[in-house]
Amino acid sequence: MKKIKHIKSWRPSGSGQQLRFWVQFAFILLCLWIGVEFTLWVAWHQGSGGIALSRPAGVEGFLPISALMSLYYFFLSGSIHPVHPAGLFILFAIIAMSILVKKSFCSWLCPIGTLSENIGEFGRKIFGRNFGVWRWLDYPLRSLKYLMLGFLFYVVFFGMDALSLGQFLSSPYNKVADVKMFIFFRDISQFSLIVLAILVALSLVIRNFWCRYLCPYGALLGLTGLLSPFRITRNTDSCIDCAKCAKVCPNRIAVDRLKVVMSDECTSCMACVDACPVRDTLQLKASRKSRFVFRSAWVAAAVVGVFLLVTGLAMLTGNWKSSVGEAEYSRRIQDINNPIYQHNQGSAPQE
Ligand code: SF4
Ligand code: SF4
Repeated sequence: MKKIKHIKSWRPSGSGQQLRFWVQFAFILLCLWIGVEFTLWVAWHQGSGGIALSRPAGVEGFLPISALMSLYYFFLSGSIHPVHPAGLFILFAIIAMSILVKKSFCSWLCPIGTLSENIGEFGRKIFGRNFGVWRWLDYPLRSLKYLMLGFLFYVVFFGMDALSLGQFLSSPYNKVADVKMFIFFRDISQFSLIVLAILVALSLVIRNFWCRYLCPYGALLGLTGLLSPFRITRNTDSCIDCAKCAKVCPNRIAVDRLKVVMSDECTSCMACVDACPVRDTLQLKASRKSRFVFRSAWVAAAVVGVFLLVTGLAMLTGNWKSSVGEAEYSRRIQDINNPIYQHNQGSAPQE
């Protein structure tokens, strides 16, 4: 508990930020639980210990490319592909919450976002501040994540029809993509470790380095978030121009100079609202005249509610567990080094 209090002390203050901390903390615990369960499950099938648990389907939330392909397959064929359906529903949930309250997934649930935020805050403790990239460099760097998303869209949406998508999703490679990802991190190469260390070092000095410049998932949610009717709105009559809102914004948005925050980078974190000393000057709402104001508790309820609703719907309708059974997984995991499980230049080998 003492450690948790210590972490909380270096984060932005305010009741909304306390709430956000606990939501992020609960989601990290959920991800850790999935990670432990999955580790034990793989070890069991590899015959190296572990426990005979069933595979946690939530692990498919870490397969965003497979989920994106499943989404497109769903649009083309009208049916849910039975391999990794949980990944598709998690993607549905994340897109739905961003259409409702912008890129809220990034600042309320995403474990990488949470990690990135805390590394940045830790860096601020060490160096006394976070550093920013020059504005002339910031814009081109921010477009990198959109370029990566564009490349993914090009490969998936323009290069594949329903038949080839279905073939890819049913391929041996995709069936064990989660196990391959796990093995990648378990037996991480020196090169990948160096890349990770560089990203951590950059995140220490530049807040949210990964999220701001490189995450294609964040780019997708930034675009879908533009559809959200709710925006941070500043009452210029009551504003005292103290700039506290801009100072705490993790995404370096000049909130103090805008009437309405239209930015694709806003994650509805509510840090600016919490920091504002003049009551009701900053509000998350549909328009300047709107009476309905989204308070932090409402954002938390919306984010968690949408996530539970969509994933719960998948479970209730029998679209949560993969069609790949335990016996098939066992056979494939024991043969995981077979070339049929190697992804080669954009194509997945078939059996
Ligand atoms: S504008 Fe406000 S809600 Fe949006 S990211 Fe910045 S601090 Fe968070
Ligand atoms: S923190 Fe509030 S009062 Fe200060 S500049 Fe921002 S909106 Fe205006």
